[in-house]
Amino acid sequence: MTEPVTSLIHHSYVPPAGFEAPQIGVFKASTVFFPSVAAMRNHEWKDKSAYTYGLHGTPTTYTLEERLCAIEGGLQCVLVPSGLAALALVAMAVLKTGDEVLLPDNAYSPNKALAEGELKAWGISHRYYDPMDAQDLAAKLSPQTRLVWIEAAGSVTLEFPDVPHLVRLCQKHGALTALDNTWGAGIAFNPFDLEPGSPAPLGVDMSAQALTKYPSGGGDVLMGSVITRDAALHMRIKLCHMRLGLSVGANDAELVLRSLPTMALRYRAHDETTRALAAWCLTQAEFVQVLHPALEASPGHAHWKNLCKPAGQNGSAACLFSVVLDPAFSQAQVDGFCDALQWFRLGYSWAGPVSLVVPYELGAMRSVWPAHIAKGTLVRFAVGLEALADLQADIAQALQVLQK
Ligand SMILES: *Cc1c(COP(=O)(O)O)cnc(C)c1O
Repeated sequence: MTEPVTSLIHHSYVPPAGFEAPQIGVFKASTVFFPSVAAMRNHEWKDKSAYTYGLHGTPTTYTLEERLCAIEGGLQCVLVPSGLAALALVAMAVLKTGDEVLLPDNAYSPNKALAEGELKAWGISHRYYDPMDAQDLAAKLSPQTRLVWIEAAGSVTLEFPDVPHLVRLCQKHGALTALDNTWGAGIAFNPFDLEPGSPAPLGVDMSAQALTKYPSGGGDVLMGSVITRDAALHMRIKLCHMRLGLSVGANDAELVLRSLPTMALRYRAHDETTRALAAWCLTQAEFVQVLHPALEASPGHAHWKNLCKPAGQNGSAACLFSVVLDPAFSQAQVDGFCDALQWFRLGYSWAGPVSLVVPYELGAMRSVWPAHIAKGTLVRFAVGLEALADLQADIAQALQVLQK
């Protein structure tokens, strides 16, 4: 007679075979059992041909990785606990002492902080280039340049760079390219085929994404991915990932898997409302500039059109736009405007159901105030899935507060 605690652990119930459903089960494990010592010695996780340990992958994480590759047009994927961890993993995997990394001046600020606060201490230097001036990048590419980050559109100010041109420059120079693809999410353009139809596909080497945004879509998961098409580069990233002990929780992976089938629909819905709101904001006198790459006057609009707008179609753009408020308004007044918004909640992140707003101090974020950005206070809106009329009315009523 086995003890109850043992029969509880070695329970004899086996569910009936043949359970198939739209969603994969949530597989949780640190330990994975092997049928024999030989299997223990032979099982290989690096090519996903088997399971060895929870940290190295489960059916849930393998499935998520494969589906993300399908969306972004990549071949291999690793999952990390946040979007920022994806950016950091790229840096750690490919940079070594003596190397230099170039970042666009409008890069996601924590990526700059990583370069300034960590990479520098490891003897890895960094410089910022003007993403709207390919000549500036060309001039800054040096023999030490190992990695170049690209963001399309850039964070907060949403300039859209000439991505194919920048990638070509880096390739010619022999530098690796990494795209922070959180904005495009694999929906707006294919990072590994930037000029569809061209005989030799032009693509970035690595696409990192905050799955926290569109792929999660709920404002409730933090996760990131690094996707590649080159097997050797992928293996460098994967081994670094393994050595750092990074993995994601099964329930979080399941949440993202559950959200992926609606991602394209959500992207489009966010996009429609965002463009309508941005266009309306253009007509409001308090805003001296509205930044959204689909607006003709927005910096890099032509590049956005080339990459994200196939002929005769509306194109795709994410749910972000920024406004520059007339410098006549004080920072306190602009803060009051943000406080007065009701549907737009004060909070970081984006691409969830709830609309969000953040005032930014652009002067503190850039090495120089960009010539193409009007002087004033910048406020970034992240448009959720609420009705357009309600969001527009919300901005309108908050503008009334600004006048007082
Ligand atoms: C949010 C975001 C990240 C980081 O994602 P987290 O999951 O919040 O760490 C990276 N890049 C961009 C462009 C982002 O918007």
